[in-house]
Amino acid sequence: MRYPFASGNVTIGALIAETKDNAQPPRGYPVSWYAATAKGLVDRPALAGDLKADVCVIGGGFTGLSAALNLADRGFDVVLLEAERLGYGASGRCGGLVGSGQRKDVLETEEKFGLEGSRALWRLAEEAKTEIRERVARHSIDCDLQNGQLVAIHTRRYLGWAEELSRALAERYDYPDTHAVDAEGIRALVANDDYFEGWFDPHALTLHPLNFALGLAGACDGAGVRIFENSRVTGYTRAEPARVSTTSGSVTASHIVLACNGYLDKLEPRVAGKIMPINNFVIATEPLGEERARELISGRFGVHDTRFVVNYYRTTEDHRLLFGGGENYRRGFPRDITAFVRPYMLKTFPQLDDMAIDYAWGGTLSVTVNRLPHFGRLAPNLFFAQGYSGHGISIATFAGKAIAEAVAGTAERFDVMASLPTHTFPGGTLLRYPGMVLGMLWYGMKDRL
Ligand SMILES: Cc1cc2nc3c(=O)[nH]c(=O)nc-3n(C[C@H](O)[C@H](O)[C@H](O)COP(=O)(O)OP(=O)(O)OC[C@H]3O[C@@H](n4cnc5c(N)ncnc54)[C@H](O)[C@@H]3O)c2cc1C
Repeated sequence: MRYPFASGNVTIGALIAETKDNAQPPRGYPVSWYAATAKGLVDRPALAGDLKADVCVIGGGFTGLSAALNLADRGFDVVLLEAERLGYGASGRCGGLVGSGQRKDVLETEEKFGLEGSRALWRLAEEAKTEIRERVARHSIDCDLQNGQLVAIHTRRYLGWAEELSRALAERYDYPDTHAVDAEGIRALVANDDYFEGWFDPHALTLHPLNFALGLAGACDGAGVRIFENSRVTGYTRAEPARVSTTSGSVTASHIVLACNGYLDKLEPRVAGKIMPINNFVIATEPLGEERARELISGRFGVHDTRFVVNYYRTTEDHRLLFGGGENYRRGFPRDITAFVRPYMLKTFPQLDDMAIDYAWGGTLSVTVNRLPHFGRLAPNLFFAQGYSGHGISIATFAGKAIAEAVAGTAERFDVMASLPTHTFPGGTLLRYPGMVLGMLWYGMKDRL
């Protein structure tokens, strides 16, 4: 039994995040509760002139920052180029729920890859969580790392899944602490009477994603990575060494790491057709006070439901409800993101009708056809990872580590991920939208019915 977790999220064009009486966010960031509570922001120069490096990383989200940090730790001379600001993309805007395992649960990966294949994927994903915990501890990253995640089952169709998954994890994955929660139990955790069952994972995590990204950036500084913001890469040569160009400079490097994910746009057509960017949206209420926050969700764990267009939520350090819901599949966000997301929140928590929404924003992520991540090499010196399909905090962070290992010559773990099957969206980059969008809208409509 399985459920179709989160179809994913996206936008590429101008950001139309909106605000309600909030101070301007730091320069170059969209309005969000994350930007308003960012720690350790540093203005970094744009690339000017011609540099040389061992590795040039393109993109300053979790994939790029983790790759840069792990490469620098291994002694490589690294330049990172970010088109906007660090964490400007999905990494600085996402829900902050760090799930265990891959985007597909082990019942599904067992079916697809057999027990050993599934175990290998589980182990890598566990390592991803460990990498996050260790980085936070080693670099003292102040990103409000918390434990726990609840999957709230919204339909009878998935009854029994939580029990089956917990048993599988305990018996075959040496992961004994998750458990199914019955309807009564779930009501003690979340103030919503509509859920049928739940699955609780005490070792999943939540974090402030922008602060995690900025913390990784600080660690990169310490490790000697040269970071440039407002430095959009316009192209690169395929030679060895490669030359990576922006409008104001270039980097000549033996290796390139492509880490642009949902914001890749036209930079690399050879991988663009394997992903579809989608937009997903988040709101943050005004502070509810600790008591009211605990009435809604009994702890600081993250929650997501089992809808195709997933609702996800958690409370923040300052006792707001941060709620993600709704997505669209075109360039550009709804003009009024609050009006778009608030109905999803009120359907889950009608008792919040009196609360103002202080922040509303959207971001772009990328999904693959089969919702498995897409890792690979386009040439011996050109690595990429993308398409985390809504499960990128852990897997993107791991991707950076695996890429660093592969650049250093040990590609075993990278190759496990790169061997996952990938499919090109029908119609490639030009025509991938109509079919997929129809499919997404159909499943979204089924959610509502
Ligand atoms: C609203 C939302 C909610 C989400 N919730 C969750 C969640 O709760 N849990 C979870 O695990 N995942 C979640 N995700 C997905 C997760 O955020 C992503 O999978 C992850 O952040 C991907 O990291 P990344 O570094 O690969 O990409 P990004 O963070 O998108 O970074 C890519 C970067 O590349 C830069 N770039 C693009 N083109 C160029 C260029 N030409 N030159 C230089 N730089 C360039 C961009 O500016 C961007 O900063 C969510 C995503 C969104 C949008």
